[in-house]
This record gives sequence, structure tokens and C-alpha cells, in this order.
Amino acid sequence: MSEASRPEPLRAEPAPPAELSRLVACEYCDAVYQRTELADGERALCLRCGGQLYRESTRAYTRLLPLVVTALILFLVSNAYPIVEMDLKGVRTETTLWGAVQALNADHMALVAMLVFGTTILFPLCEMLMMLYLLVPMARRRMPPGFERIVRGIRQTRPWGMIEVFMIGVLVTLVKLSTMAQVLPGIALWSFGALVVVLAAMLSFDPRDLWQYLEKEPPR
Ligand SMILES: [Zn+2]
Repeated sequence: MSEASRPEPLRAEPAPPAELSRLVACEYCDAVYQRTELADGERALCLRCGGQLYRESTRAYTRLLPLVVTALILFLVSNAYPIVEMDLKGVRTETTLWGAVQALNADHMALVAMLVFGTTILFPLCEMLMMLYLLVPMARRRMPPGFERIVRGIRQTRPWGMIEVFMIGVLVTLVKLSTMAQVLPGIALWSFGALVVVLAAMLSFDPRDLWQYLEKEPPR
């Protein structure tokens, strides 16, 4: 056995559903294995083709914290600078996302205002704050109270993971449908675009890795 620990090849009979989460398939040749515990820095390799199956990932969350902080900064910048130019009673004014929400609401477009608010401000902020709530204490090797509930919450909001795409859709619709608003190609728009990319990277993280952390380092 070298630096890589090799998982046992799976027997032919189908695994019970509870065991499915412990299965891992080789990305290169489709061989299926049972996941085994690895030590820090170890990798599991495919017996058939030698491709990498997975690596020790319980500390994946340490790479996640900088990503969440970046997203939060981009979010603040996106909301601090004007992103749309609006025609309000004949006066053209540059306004932030929040200003646009208020203007839409005042213009009897409450539903659109709610959609814009939810998808561009509320949901991304909730996701980022939930992640921060978990990751900051964990970086100090402390277990945040309500850990299980928050991880479950993040998993349950995953169907809303297409929010980034929806945000762009809403912005485009806003511009196409409404003659009163025009998107400004300024700091806020670029930072918003970057935020969409960072959020997508953040959402590609599997919260189950946090469960593995819980199993390995029980709460104090
Ligand atoms: Zn393989």
C-alpha cells in the first residue's frame, strides 16, 4: 500500500438505499467502490485505471470560508453602487438595487419588486449568512449551536440554487419590459456579475462534507 489507500471493490449484489451515499464511482472508467475512511492528505485511487476517486475532504470547508467572504464583499459593492438608471416622473436618476425595488413598489409593480428583492438581495444574503454562521466558528474548531438544523436548511434551499441564473433573468426582463429602467455598465454591474460566479462556486460545495466534520470532531 503506497501513499494512496485503496478502497475495496464492491461485490455484485445491489447496495441497500442507506448505503448509496457511501458509494463512489470512478470518473474515468465507471468502476464503483465503497467509500472508506482516509487520513489527512490521502487520496483514493481506482484499482482498474489508477484515476483519482476522491481525497480526504472533511476539511474542504476551510477552502469555503474565503469564497463566502469574497461573495459577501461583492454583494456589498453590488448594493452600494448604482446599478440602474430610472426615469422617475420625468427625472432620470441612478439608483442601487434597493432603490430600484422601492421605485418598482411605488410604481404599483409590487410583484416584480418582490421578485427582484428576493432573488437579488434576500436569498443570496441568507445563503451567505448561513454559511458564515457555520464556517466562522468551525475555522476556530468550535461547533456552532444549531449546526444540524443549519446544514439541513442549506440542503433544503439547494433547489433554489439556480438563483444566480434567475437573478440575471430578472435583470434582463426588467430592462426589456420596462422603459423606465436602464442597466448602468458600472462598478455595481461588474461586481454583480462576479458575485454570480462566486455564488455558483459556493453552491457547488456539498454540505454533506460538513456532516463528515461532525462525525469526526464531535461538538464540544
Ligand atoms: Zn477507473
